Amino acid sequence: MTWDPWRQAFLTAGAVVVGFDPSTRTWVTDADRSQGMVDLPQLKGKVVTDPASRGQAADDFGHLVHRTPGAVLEPSAVSDILQMMKYCRTHGLQVAARGQGHATFGQGQVEGGLVIDMTPLNAVEVREDTAVVEAGALWSSLAQATLAHGLTPAVFTDYLELSVGGTLSVGGVGGQTHHYGAQVDSVVELEVVTGDASLRRCSAGLRPDLFRAVLAGRGQCGIVTKATVRLLPAPARVRHYLLSYPSVAALTADQRLVVNDGRFAYVEGELGLPTGSAGWSYQLEAVAFFNGTTPPDDARLLAGLGDQLGDRQIQDMSYFDFLNRLAVGVASLKSTGEWYRPHPWWNMFLPASRTDAFVDAAIKDLTETEVGASGVVLLYPFPRARLGLPLLRMPDEETVFLFTLLRTASQGAESPQDMVEANRSLYLRAQAVGGYQYPVGSIPATPQEWRTHYGPEWAAFEAAHERYDPGGILTPGQGVFPPGP
Ligand SMILES: Cc1cc2nc3c(=O)[nH]c(=O)nc-3n(C[C@H](O)[C@H](O)[C@H](O)COP(=O)(O)OP(=O)(O)OC[C@H]3O[C@@H](n4cnc5c(N)ncnc54)[C@H](O)[C@@H]3O)c2cc1C
Repeated sequence: MTWDPWRQAFLTAGAVVVGFDPSTRTWVTDADRSQGMVDLPQLKGKVVTDPASRGQAADDFGHLVHRTPGAVLEPSAVSDILQMMKYCRTHGLQVAARGQGHATFGQGQVEGGLVIDMTPLNAVEVREDTAVVEAGALWSSLAQATLAHGLTPAVFTDYLELSVGGTLSVGGVGGQTHHYGAQVDSVVELEVVTGDASLRRCSAGLRPDLFRAVLAGRGQCGIVTKATVRLLPAPARVRHYLLSYPSVAALTADQRLVVNDGRFAYVEGELGLPTGSAGWSYQLEAVAFFNGTTPPDDARLLAGLGDQLGDRQIQDMSYFDFLNRLAVGVASLKSTGEWYRPHPWWNMFLPASRTDAFVDAAIKDLTETEVGASGVVLLYPFPRARLGLPLLRMPDEETVFLFTLLRTASQGAESPQDMVEANRSLYLRAQAVGGYQYPVGSIPATPQEWRTHYGPEWAAFEAAHERYDPGGILTPGQGVFPPGP
């Protein structure tokens, strides 16, 4: 929440919560104290009910789902989260953390309950080869803090203004995933406030059941308050290659080749919608890191690739400018208003053996009306073996592809509802070929379908949920477990 004088005036005039009245099930502010209310615990931060805070927490990047919380916690310390978890558990109130609210389908929303705004908890401490980072910190801040020490996290999402807690709750994949797995695979230790109101540390060796249920665990067992993330030496510069292909099959053949031999530091891919008389375009985006003045060996890196030679685009830039390369485009989308329109996103992992045919069929008749003026179609290759955590569900093949239709309901495009419906039917088709949802998008799914999604991991996930959130109060917007009693 940014500081806003109008909001501050409103807060002092009676929007700071002092208790909850179990008989009327209402949050009570200092202006309307009631006899039956139970006082809030002593907090370093505050719980508020002003319309701006609740309105923000009732919305996200998707603008498709709106559930209004009763109150919002602005914590000043982890102890505030712990105390309020205890309080909410006692009164059967649901709770969810909110990072940057870039989920697209209400995943971080709670009707009537408490949303925890994680943004104030954003400290970063860089150590020898790890960073200890509070969950509300942005990946852009973590990058800047570590780069000052010549270090970097191994894997970044394309957009850096996401919270550490938010991406660790889903997985966090990007162009370096083919070397280092998802962001969750670089986590050494977590500090978590679990749904039973305990502050716990966990790692692969300490409470591994909790560690494995929280990483990519969609906030079902606890709120991440701190993560220790492994760091690598940072390169100074990158050489960026944009290679063009005549078809999906030609693109994915080279994507498979380069992620399996590991010649590039970073590999992604994008499909461009037809423009004018030109049909679809297919591009592989790859990067090689370098330091000093010795540039990467182009001949070695591009050897044996089947791209269209005349269309190669190669440029050098600083490592941070590369990581932050979406910033200019995002500023432009904000200036035109596109950024603020509904975003019914579709994101699924596909098995490599079915990817070409599935993608060809999915884009065959796809037009700008169905993805929006600023819609983006992505195709990222990952070797399955790099992805080590159980709750980031993937097809069981040597290579998997993340295929996304990042739709924007632009002016003149299909309605957000039609886009969500189209997402649902494409999801069923993808599921039929062995695809798995990446749960950051806007694809309606039932609890039974989530159970199927987790397959052999369900039993451990459910056991961890029962153990660490016995009241079933956490993160109901994900729709994974039915709410508690
Ligand atoms: C423009 C854009 C680009 C993106 N690019 C990528 C990409 O390249 N790769 C990729 O993998 N993903 C990408 N994503 C998806 C993104 O990683 C997820 O949507 C992520 O969850 C958003 O982080 P957030 O801080 O906004 O989380 P929020 O939307 O605030 O929360 C998401 C979910 O996580 C829970 N949560 C948040 N913080 C915590 C916490 N501390 N503890 C427990 N649970 C928590 C919330 O309750 C909610 O259920 C992108 C999204 C956008 C909008």
